[in-house]
Amino acid sequence: MQYRKDKYGNEISILGFGCMRFEQTAGRINLEKMEKQILAAVEGGVNYYDTAYVYPGSETALGEVLARNGLRDKVKIATKLPHYLLRSRADLDRYFSEELSRLQTDYVDYYLMHMLTDIATWRRLEGLGIKEWIEEKKASGQIRQIGFSYHGNAQMFCEILDAYEWEFCQIQYNYLDENSQAGRKGLHYAASKGLPVIIMEPLRGGKLVKLLPKEAEQAFADFPVKRSPAEWAFRWLWNQPEVTCVLSGMNSLEMVKENIQTASEAKPGEFGEEEEKLFTRARSAIEAKLKVGCTGCGYCMPCPHNVDIPGTFAAYNRCYTEKKTSGWKDYFMCTGLRKTSTAASNCVGCGKCEKHCPQHIEIRKELKKARKELEGPIYRIARRIVLLSRRY
Ligand code: SF4
Ligand code: SF4
Repeated sequence: MQYRKDKYGNEISILGFGCMRFEQTAGRINLEKMEKQILAAVEGGVNYYDTAYVYPGSETALGEVLARNGLRDKVKIATKLPHYLLRSRADLDRYFSEELSRLQTDYVDYYLMHMLTDIATWRRLEGLGIKEWIEEKKASGQIRQIGFSYHGNAQMFCEILDAYEWEFCQIQYNYLDENSQAGRKGLHYAASKGLPVIIMEPLRGGKLVKLLPKEAEQAFADFPVKRSPAEWAFRWLWNQPEVTCVLSGMNSLEMVKENIQTASEAKPGEFGEEEEKLFTRARSAIEAKLKVGCTGCGYCMPCPHNVDIPGTFAAYNRCYTEKKTSGWKDYFMCTGLRKTSTAASNCVGCGKCEKHCPQHIEIRKELKKARKELEGPIYRIARRIVLLSRRY
C-alpha cells in the first residue's frame, strides 16, 4: 500500500474503503463476509474507512467489526453529519453521539458535512452554531479533522472551500467527470489550499465497468498494456498527485485484493501521451451516447436566473449513458437540495449564456428538453419536502 499525507502529516492510504455498499443477504449487511473483507483490507494497509449516518446499517456494522477485532486504533474512520435532518443545535449533539455509539468509538478521525450542496446550506448551519460546535468537538478530541462531501459544480465548490477553514474535502471524480462536478478545476483548487482530497465515485458507481459502450471496452483491449477498465480508472486518479485517497465500495474479497494490488503499484505522473490518447478514445466513446455535448467548462455561468447549466446537462446526459434514476438523482442533488433552486425551469430564455458557449450549444432549447426529462412529479414533490423540512 502507498500513502499520501494530509495537511497535518497524517498518512492516508491511497485506497480507502467506501462502506456504503456492503454486501447484503436478505436485505441485511452480511457481517461475516464484510468482516473478512475489512480484515483483508486492514491487512493490505487500507487505513481509511468512509461511512455515513444515512448509509443503512453501515456505521453499526463497521463499529462492530472494528471493535471485535481490536482495530479501532489502526484505522481512520470518516463519517458524516446528516445536516439536512437538523432542526436545532441540540440535534448536532444528538446525531453525533448516536454515530459515536454506533461506531463504538469516542472520536471520529475525519468528520464531514454530508453533501454540502451550496453556500446557503453552510450559512444555515452557521446559524445553528456549527462553527462553535466544531471548535468544541475538536478541542475535546472527539473530531480530529473537519471537512465536507460535495456534489455540484466547480464554481460553488470553490465558494464553499473559501467559506471556512476546512481540513479536507470529498468530491466525485473520475475520468468521465474530469470537467463536471467539482472536476479537475475543483481538485486543483483544493490541493492549492493544501487540502487532502478524498475521491468518491471513481467508477461512477460501477458504471465505468459494467455499462461501458463496446467502443470504450475495445479502446482498453487494444492498448498494449493489459489492464481491466476498473484498474485503468483507478490509475487515472492515482496518476494525479493532487488526489489523496480514492474510495472504493468493495464488496468481495477478490475486489479488495485486486484494488490493493493496483494501489501498491500505481504511481503519480506515470501516464504519458499514449495513455492520454487512450482515455480520450474511451471518453469519446462514452460521450457519443450523450444527449448534449456539454463539456462542463462553465463559461456560460453564472446564469442571472440561477440555472445550473452544466449540472443540468450532466444529469440529463447521465439519464442516457447510465440509468434514468442516476440522472434524476444527480439533478435533484445539484438543483433541488438548495435553498434557492438552480433548476432548468428557472430559465427565462434571455440567451446570455449561449454567447459564451464554446461548443455552440443551443442552451435554451436543450434546457427545455432536459427540464421535461428531469423535473417530473417526483422531483417536484421531493423539492417541496426539502423546502418544508428546512423551513426556509
Ligand atoms: S437563457 Fe436561460 S440559462 Fe441562459 S442565461 Fe438566460 S436564463 Fe440563464
Ligand atoms: S459553456 Fe457550453 S459547454 Fe461549457 S458548461 Fe456551458 S453549456 Fe456546457
